[in-house]
Amino acid sequence: MTTVTAAEAAYVVAALLFILSLAGLSQHRTSRSGVVWGIAGMVIALAATVGLASRSITATGLVLIAVATAVGAGIGLWRARVVEMTGMPELIAIMHSLVGLAATFVGWNGYLDVDAGSDGGEKLSGSLLGIHHAEVFIGVFIGAVTFTGSVVAYLKLSARIKSNPLTLPGKHILNVGALVAFVVLTVAFVARPNIGLLIAVTVIALALGAHLVASIGGGDMPVVVSMLNSYSGWAAAASGFLLANNLLIVTGALVGSSGAYLSYIMCKAMNRSFISVIAGGFGTPAAAADDGEQGEHREINAEETAELLRDASSVIITPGYGMAVAQAQYPVAELARKLRERGVEVRFGIHPVAGRLPGHMNVLLAEANVPYDVVLEMDEINDDFAATSVVLVIGANDTVNPAATDNPASPIAGMPVLHVWEAANVVVFKRSMAAGYAGVQNPLFFRENTQMLFGDAKQRVEDILRGLDALDAPVPEMAGTSR
Ligand code: NDP
Repeated sequence: MTTVTAAEAAYVVAALLFILSLAGLSQHRTSRSGVVWGIAGMVIALAATVGLASRSITATGLVLIAVATAVGAGIGLWRARVVEMTGMPELIAIMHSLVGLAATFVGWNGYLDVDAGSDGGEKLSGSLLGIHHAEVFIGVFIGAVTFTGSVVAYLKLSARIKSNPLTLPGKHILNVGALVAFVVLTVAFVARPNIGLLIAVTVIALALGAHLVASIGGGDMPVVVSMLNSYSGWAAAASGFLLANNLLIVTGALVGSSGAYLSYIMCKAMNRSFISVIAGGFGTPAAAADDGEQGEHREINAEETAELLRDASSVIITPGYGMAVAQAQYPVAELARKLRERGVEVRFGIHPVAGRLPGHMNVLLAEANVPYDVVLEMDEINDDFAATSVVLVIGANDTVNPAATDNPASPIAGMPVLHVWEAANVVVFKRSMAAGYAGVQNPLFFRENTQMLFGDAKQRVEDILRGLDALDAPVPEMAGTSR
């Protein structure tokens, strides 16, 4: 068997492993094996690619590949070990930016190799050369949009810049203008390739990527992250065409289409128009946040919350980003277990974009061994709040904001939320009256049936556990009392 045939066979195996990985990752129970399939596929893919490359490069080239692999693997291992769960979206965004950058370089390299006549360039002619030029241009465009879009997403998610949408005058005209310029420049480049056009499209794409993501508001960022995931896939597929690498085409298409589908599902879950979000908030009115006077809020302490829970018949816990920050999932799981032992019906209501990445809350609750059957999706539980004695909102804010349903001027208007306010009592765990990720004040905190339990969520839940134990403890007889 020649090296090429062996590598092609290995690519087919790796592609199948990637498909198995995606299938595994789609369910909690199989997600660990999904990760293992993915790692195996990537090891095979890397080995086959290096094997292929080794046929035509010098020993120095091989040493450089080994050094690059070691440095890349080292950085990857280090980041994966130190990253907090809450920092995952930033990490994903910055990784997408690297895929975009790589695709841009591959595109430029494709041009320099063939057109500028650098060493090793393939000799293409006729329609093949035209296709090659189109691949270069499209690859550079998608890659550069992905690169700057992901960098801006990283800056927003890590709170290094504000998450508010940027609203430049005529922003949609700018976006459409950039797309039209791309199409016109592509035609010109295929007809008469030159480096000036390639520089122009790179600059336009870099600006477009940054502008598209900067125009999207905080609440829509989950969709942006999965959309950039999709873009990075298409950028990789474009590189695959340029490098004539089948595995890169297949893998890029898998990432591109699964990312696009995830974005679509998230848009549906958040009642957002898919086209509007991918077009940088096109058609979304610039809504004003209603941060006006909301009235008084009421406070409750942990002991009083314990009493409320002791007397409750049904409890729903709606966790959010704050539970992840506080790492409160373990005491929360313990609280749920204790209450269930006492005969209280306890369930969890999970919003599709609670936390900072899709499935964030499910992962945390699974980590703390909360049984799957009491963890319900928003649509499964939203009608049950009205018949619930107590809702514990643990570090959630935007995902339980009634303004989304009853204030059309709110920036998150129309986004489906958990109807926690319909319960008899709502206890909100947070540290202050600060707004959530979307930067919108939450009228829930000022409702008559809502009480605020301030402090770190983990500490407060532990206080409640102690409070419940104290309520269970037998009351010591007073000295001197006799029957
Ligand atoms: P939010 O981000 O809206 O609010 C979290 C709340 O947790 C804050 O109000 C904060 O209040 C509180 N909090 C923070 N730390 C602690 C702590 N240690 N103890 C107690 N409370 C704490 O949370 P949600 O989960 O409701 O909403 C998610 C938001 O993130 C949505 O806007 C969503 O669109 C966005 N998003 C989601 C992504 C996803 O894929 N899931 C990705 C990117 C963004 P305080 O500071 O007062 O304590």
